[in-house]
Amino acid sequence: MIAAADQRSTPVSVVGAKRDYISHSAITTYQQCPLRYRFKYVDALPETVVSSALIFGGAIHSALEFHFTERLCGNESPSLDQLLDVFQEAWQGRATDYEDIRFGKGEDHNSLSALADRMLTAFRESPAVASDDIVIGIEEELRGELIPGVPDLLARIDLLTTTSDALVITDFKTARSRWSQNQAENSSSQLLLYSELARRLMPDREVRLRFLVLTKTKKPTVEAFNVKVNRRRSHRTVLVVKHTWRAIEAGHFYPAPSPMNCPTCPFRSECNAWTGD
Ligand code: SF4
Repeated sequence: MIAAADQRSTPVSVVGAKRDYISHSAITTYQQCPLRYRFKYVDALPETVVSSALIFGGAIHSALEFHFTERLCGNESPSLDQLLDVFQEAWQGRATDYEDIRFGKGEDHNSLSALADRMLTAFRESPAVASDDIVIGIEEELRGELIPGVPDLLARIDLLTTTSDALVITDFKTARSRWSQNQAENSSSQLLLYSELARRLMPDREVRLRFLVLTKTKKPTVEAFNVKVNRRRSHRTVLVVKHTWRAIEAGHFYPAPSPMNCPTCPFRSECNAWTGD
């Protein structure tokens, strides 16, 4: 870790068990379903069920992290077999944390292993990966106060690189289909928040934001999307966090059922039993 910006403690019970910070993921969870936020962060209920997509995405992330860690160490890029070994190890490590993995239709561990093989092959061959940028951090944690009165934001940055004139924040994504530039711009709230913290790390450098998107298609693609750092949108994103936090702090926890979120929610039985307390 190259910077743990601000170690100020802001213990607030609704921020979550053993936490004194908020994350973009927690904010997003609340925005998608306030009751799910409560079950996960406030009540810290065990999660026994998980979607295969979550485990798969995490295991692909681990393989990419290994690739860039080897570059950071000045080593040769890992072989496909090495990346697949990291993928399998990460899959096993994550899978043992749950009692039930919910696979999609026609999916199983073997089909997802074959998909990982195709995706990591595409990753190794992608020009988007063969850049001269200098890797300075992988899974970097940055932390700091963005809004007075709101707990620190903790950012975990997938990949931090430098060019001759800029600091580049890259977020890895696995997606069902190819992204458009518009989709990248619309998904940029997390990166915009992270850019506010990264700016403090190297105040003299321009901060650039980038998604590296690997598709889970029959013929996987790997594409990089640069996202504009727009101060007006950054400010708006910070304000959204502020108002979301105010709702969390006030204890507004209620179910927000949706066909997108409920099928993979690990708290469905607790949700059914919820009586509004
Ligand atoms: S089942 Fe749906 S409504 Fe209930 S907590 Fe989970 S996401 Fe929210």
